[in-house]
Amino acid sequence: MEWGCTKCGVGIPQDREFCDKCEEKHFRKIGGFLFLPLIGLVVTAASYLFVMADTFNVMTENYSHLSANAKIFFISSLAIYIGEFLFAATVLSFFLKKKKFLPKLFIFFMISVVAIMSLNVYMLYILIPGVKIGHHELAPIFRNVISALIWIPYFITSVRVKRTFIR
Ligand SMILES: [Zn+2]
Repeated sequence: MEWGCTKCGVGIPQDREFCDKCEEKHFRKIGGFLFLPLIGLVVTAASYLFVMADTFNVMTENYSHLSANAKIFFISSLAIYIGEFLFAATVLSFFLKKKKFLPKLFIFFMISVVAIMSLNVYMLYILIPGVKIGHHELAPIFRNVISALIWIPYFITSVRVKRTFIR
């Protein structure tokens, strides 16, 4: 039996569901540019997981040598990462369900990421004396500000956004 594209029936290898043409159409239908913030959300959620594990390791390995302020910094950073990870996962699930309130939630999420990253760097500056705030700390905030400046107007004005999130 010949294996065909589930949409148009054109012959394709067995491990595929659609032919190239239909696959392209299929993806375009799901979201055009909306795939970018969706991927961004997955990457953000994953990066919070990594940074969570990293912070936890550094904290537990050095716990006895840490000053009280350093402990406060590490523990509140962990709480922030866990909170933002859960927030990202929630936004992701509503994104996939195409909920009507998603655009507002997404905008709020982007603002919260920038606000919380800034707060985290500020805490680092206040609680860990002698620490240098530089490129390594500020670049991620800058990147998130840029992406908020791109996606917030998109989520407010885009017709595709209005047509996608309707449930
Ligand atoms: Zn096809």
